[in-house]
Amino acid sequence: MKNLIEIKNLNKKYPVKSEFSGRSKDFIYAVNDVSLTVKEGEILGLVGESGCGKSTFLKLLLRFYPVQSGSVRLYGRELNEYSLMQLRNMITYVPQESYLFEGTIRENIEYGWNKAGSPDMDMIVRAAKQAYADEFISELPDGYDTRLTAGGMNLSGGQRQRIAIARAMLKDSPVILMDEPSSALDTHSENVFLKALDSPMKDKTVIMVSHRMTGVERFDRVVRL
Ligand code: ADP
Ligand code: MG
Repeated sequence: MKNLIEIKNLNKKYPVKSEFSGRSKDFIYAVNDVSLTVKEGEILGLVGESGCGKSTFLKLLLRFYPVQSGSVRLYGRELNEYSLMQLRNMITYVPQESYLFEGTIRENIEYGWNKAGSPDMDMIVRAAKQAYADEFISELPDGYDTRLTAGGMNLSGGQRQRIAIARAMLKDSPVILMDEPSSALDTHSENVFLKALDSPMKDKTVIMVSHRMTGVERFDRVVRL
């Protein structure tokens, strides 16, 4: 299989404000000299202690931050050879904290759609099932038409996370980056959730940041940052 993502000597440092002057004078390395190759179709688990740079690493792949030193290639081309639009179409990103907006659950899932027109209900339900969200949504009196408040505060953390994942599942892209997608789920839900992801991820290339080692048998490879 060919290499889809090739990362060489990647670095990212954040400024640290001086305690006295408030001016940035020092830096801390959040990502320090990371090299990693991910093959097409591979499902990679990324683990490491809190604060070791996992989230920053994913954000670099999305070009939320410019690559300061080192190189990141996607399909053999440097990240900055792509427009942000192209990049965001190639990569589905599930952030650690997803933003749910004021509107119905259906609208919140539909937001992930990246093709012309709008998805039909079957596709939305399929995405929700893949995200292990259909069950609790169907139990709500208004189902998919349930209105969320801004931030989705009328749902639990685990439910918000599942809607965010359903949103990601609706998007069609070859690469999926997930940042601790199951951190707000209990162990049972997490297992069901990971199992449900098996089929949608079959022909995708996936990097999943994982806060614990559950489900590692589902990964082709686990890398510790
Ligand atoms: P992880 O996801 O592994 O917990 P992060 O990538 O979130 O780690 O953070 C790595 C390091 O970079 C931490 O020390 C964190 O405090 C620091 N950091 C993260 N984001 C910022 C930021 N926007 N500004 C300054 N420092 C940051
Ligand atoms: Mg993180």
